[in-house]
Amino acid sequence: MNIIFVGAPGAGKGTHAKKLSEMLNIPHISTGDIFRDNISQQTELGIVADKYISKGMLVPDEITMSIVKDRLSKEDCDDGFILDGFPRTLVQAEELDKFLEGKNRKVDYVVNILVEEDVLIQRLLSRRVCSQCKSTFSLSQTCVKNDTCPKCGGKLVKRDDDKIEIIKERFISYHNQTEPLLNYYAARKILRNAKGMESYEQTLKNILEAIDITK
Ligand code: ADP
Ligand code: ZN
Repeated sequence: MNIIFVGAPGAGKGTHAKKLSEMLNIPHISTGDIFRDNISQQTELGIVADKYISKGMLVPDEITMSIVKDRLSKEDCDDGFILDGFPRTLVQAEELDKFLEGKNRKVDYVVNILVEEDVLIQRLLSRRVCSQCKSTFSLSQTCVKNDTCPKCGGKLVKRDDDKIEIIKERFISYHNQTEPLLNYYAARKILRNAKGMESYEQTLKNILEAIDITK
């Protein structure tokens, strides 16, 4: 299955995309993670991407497209993939369609996780990421103590773009550039909305139902 996760910043795309990728045994591809890895290693791509990400702007389509095409060309994507945070513009969506068409493939489902904006902002402000295993947590979780990762013991840090001024810019980018994708995919009848305001388990259940997986 070829699945895309869309949704505003903080909606839970990463968390649920990762879980679904384990369940379906297909790779989880997060453009945000790829950019952040490159930024931490100070690669050429990372240095360029950081200029945009640190301002809450989208990385230019040309750069984003080329990394995604490279990644989707790897063998492990042959049986399906989950794209998380890509596409984020109409140009990216159209180019992805062309690319997949060339391989006689298509997007099967686009999962849109729905969460109200004030909740999203609170979530982003209390989000912490493990610097080692990259798992994300909320300061409100009881397992999170002393900035230590409950999974691996690594140090929990705040993402550089999870600051209120940058969060606002990310929402502007989302509304202007990414939201129009919802109509694009709805017209093709592959858009599936999943409520994401309740617990992690309930949201996962909503997502599985939305893509017709019954467990
Ligand atoms: P979130 O969904 O919480 O904003 P991501 O990790 O998906 O977080 O993305 C972080 C940042 O990386 C974005 O704000 C944007 O600058 C950049 N980015 C990620 N994916 C894309 C994309 N498909 N196109 C352009 N920029 C992207
Ligand atoms: Zn960890």
